[in-house]
Amino acid sequence: MDLKAPEKILNYIGGELKAPANGKYIDNINPATGEVYSQIPDSTVQDVEAAVAAAKAAFPAWSKTPAEEKFKILNRIAELIDQNLDALALAETNDNGKPLWLSKRVDIPRASSNFRFFATGLMHFATESHNMENGTVNYTLRQPIGVVGCISPWNLPLYLFTWKIAPALAAGNCVISKPSEVTPMTGYLLSLICKEAGLPAGVLNILHGTGPNCGSAIVSHPEIKAISFTGSTRAGKDIASIAAPMFKKLSLELGGKNPNIIFADCDWEKMMRTTLQSSFANQGQICLCGSRILVEENIYEKFKTEFIERAKKLTVGDPLDENSKQGAVVSKMHFDKVLGCIELAKQEGGIILFGGKAIKGTGHCENGYFIEPTIIEGLGPDCRTNMEEIFGPVVTLQSFKTEDEALALANCSDYGLAATIWTQDVSRANRVAGQVHSGIIWVNCWLLRDLRTPFGGFKNSGVGREGGWEAMKFFTDVKNVCIDL
Ligand code: NAD
Repeated sequence: MDLKAPEKILNYIGGELKAPANGKYIDNINPATGEVYSQIPDSTVQDVEAAVAAAKAAFPAWSKTPAEEKFKILNRIAELIDQNLDALALAETNDNGKPLWLSKRVDIPRASSNFRFFATGLMHFATESHNMENGTVNYTLRQPIGVVGCISPWNLPLYLFTWKIAPALAAGNCVISKPSEVTPMTGYLLSLICKEAGLPAGVLNILHGTGPNCGSAIVSHPEIKAISFTGSTRAGKDIASIAAPMFKKLSLELGGKNPNIIFADCDWEKMMRTTLQSSFANQGQICLCGSRILVEENIYEKFKTEFIERAKKLTVGDPLDENSKQGAVVSKMHFDKVLGCIELAKQEGGIILFGGKAIKGTGHCENGYFIEPTIIEGLGPDCRTNMEEIFGPVVTLQSFKTEDEALALANCSDYGLAATIWTQDVSRANRVAGQVHSGIIWVNCWLLRDLRTPFGGFKNSGVGREGGWEAMKFFTDVKNVCIDL
């Protein structure tokens, strides 16, 4: 295969590449250069209708396809993603602004892992049986739902897109999917891979377009019975308000404002190295980034000094340059939002310890959207800077004296996605992990992922869990069959 980013992206409907029904396109911008480099369909309800018709036609055969056959096709998709690593990584970087080395090392390998994981998973997926004393047998059937919708964000484009599509297909569903309009290219290239892998027509449909025009048409379509969404809490609320009265199954993976709790007895070097990553990786645009750093008072000054020194060494610049540790933020709109949040932090009385400004790129990146890694102190837990998700290379520092104080600061948030705890005291790690209101807790590590584990958040960070059997269960309907023998 020779995967190349085209000037015009097309929808993938019924196994064919199709222009949007209304003939309208929107610009796709490379955030590292600020230049329009392709166009994407501005799809609407008409395209969703066509995709649903194709998916419905494909469902009877796909849902009955033997597990081994489904495995071969999904595993072939994983192989083709691996074989096209370079082209996919370049497309991801041009769309998103993240360093090319990161796309190559993390984003694209994880996309093939997602397909491989659920391809093998479907071979092992089994159901329960409950036998009663009188000989009655109950067995559980888990059947594919039918046509399901998968909508994903721009921060980890192919990584999160495949994290939904792979289990939906593995469970025997046909899928109407939409990558973010801000980062559509790898979703488009995945269409070409699916064709090459022999995925039957209509089993997966990939539509491109905006949330209001295309996403909401997917969510409100009566024949799409389940919606798996990853994105902002704001959009999650809108989606829930449409899907809930229609009694659709809903999985919502939303925003975060995650605490990174650092006790004095931590493994210092490992904590410092990892905290730099959990603060600024992917320009801080990971829902799991630890944007609220809470440090035990007796090491606060030492931490602050060393953290600033390390942040100074993070080279920000051209994502294609191997030496760039940080690339561009994803769009002009997001660039303005993040800089606005930094201004707000200053108005709230925050002290900018490091960063805080835009960076002018050089050469072909002179119009790119680059922001310095930014460290802020002097703000309490109740200000907007510490309450609202910024989703950029911006962290705040707060200190605490006791474990209870650390917990109070950690839990003082409407979000509850992830938390990181740094301590070598196993009892304390266990105690604190049990009391932090988050769905994902990392102790002495960050972003260490086992795809079998449940993934998702408390509170405004979402509803439901992805990962492993949780995802396979979400994408199936459950039926109990009771037989009096
Ligand atoms: P977003 O909500 O703006 O968009 C996400 C996707 O939803 C896009 O494809 C968009 O087109 C679509 N969309 C937007 N409004 C919609 C609507 N009303 N109906 C249907 N679809 C709609 O989010 P974003 O800016 O792309 O991504 C950043 C957000 O995603 C952050 O809040 C981040 O925390 C969150 N996120 C969460 C996780 C997680 O696993 N919890 C992972 C990554 C990102």
